Amino acid sequence: MSKPQTDAIRIRTTQTNEMEHSSPLYLTSSFCFDDAESMRAAFADETDDNIYSRFSNPNVQEFTDKICALEGAEAGYATASGMSAVFGSFMALLKKGDHLLSCNSIFGSTHTVITKYLPNYGIDTSYVLATATEAEWEAAVTPATKMIYLETPTNPGLDILDVEMIGRVAKKHNIILNVDNCFATPVNQRPIDFGADLVVHSATKWMDGQGRVLGGVVVGKKELIKNIYLFCRSTGPALSPFNAWLLSKSIETLDVRMERHASNALFIAEALENHTAIAKLRYPFLASHPQHAIAKKQMTNGGGIVCFELKGGLEAGKAFLNQLKMLSLTANLGDTRSIASHPASTTHAKLSESERLAVNITPGLIRISVGLEHRDDILADITQALAAI
Ligand SMILES: *Cc1c(COP(=O)(O)O)cnc(C)c1O
Repeated sequence: MSKPQTDAIRIRTTQTNEMEHSSPLYLTSSFCFDDAESMRAAFADETDDNIYSRFSNPNVQEFTDKICALEGAEAGYATASGMSAVFGSFMALLKKGDHLLSCNSIFGSTHTVITKYLPNYGIDTSYVLATATEAEWEAAVTPATKMIYLETPTNPGLDILDVEMIGRVAKKHNIILNVDNCFATPVNQRPIDFGADLVVHSATKWMDGQGRVLGGVVVGKKELIKNIYLFCRSTGPALSPFNAWLLSKSIETLDVRMERHASNALFIAEALENHTAIAKLRYPFLASHPQHAIAKKQMTNGGGIVCFELKGGLEAGKAFLNQLKMLSLTANLGDTRSIASHPASTTHAKLSESERLAVNITPGLIRISVGLEHRDDILADITQALAAI
């Protein structure tokens, strides 16, 4: 059996008579049948034949199969964005009266879905701190708890949650463990190996890795994915074949890209850790990280995100962004181009000060998505901006 990294490169659509090496792009909304019987059989789910691209498409399947190989998952379904993967995984598996137990430090739109929309369907959520112990997770479980949801590393606080420990709690109470693995990517962390039942991704970030398209994917246990697939094929968040084709090619370089993102990030983190303008810096593979041991257990590298707290607080954060000459100011992360963001004045500005502090977002927090430019140039831009504030 070949290694996941090899499968991620070699899995492809069936070669056509043209003998193409790279997968063709199947820009088609529907697929034809030879006769009434084969069409009947496809609609009756007796065959896997493609029917309509809201249900399945060869490019989308190729991308999904690659992610399944990388995550060690039985099955998957790709979606138009990370949020539709997250939402689909909730709506297909939770019903009125069910309880969702989530880490409090989660992506902003996921928080909005959980607090603003799930209650409309009678689905209740309670939050647990990213740093909660096994006993605290255990204590938060209720008889109605159907799913545990978490992200690790968290955004933007970079807390590391112990997937194996939370997986034990989930298994003990027969709860679905759903992990957003966007920040680490499957070449760096495989939550299923540690007890996750489902893994969701925003493919928009490191998977595309070049800031071009939106996409999402959810992979995991076959029977759970079947329900998510049935929900999604009826409600319509299908991934475009064009985006799938781009994403699938990107997956072929994911492993080498992530290695460089992580080595650049470690270089930046080590160089800045004791900088005089910085009060505190976080990177999972620095010994100073509070959950360093957990990071070492479940991740193969520290990832591409570095966070630091400026001594000057909110105003220093804004000034830092204004002084940058090369790093991009943009809402994305996981791009070849390094990106700086200041959560307190942008993505998390709507939260109250205490809500921000509860998820480690201090006024002077800066998040760097470390790109693939030469590491000396990335560091030079950050240090000149730090010197100027
Ligand atoms: C961006 C992101 C999402 C949402 O993905 P989209 O592709 O933007 O819909 C979900 N989770 C995490 C951790 C993210 O960073």
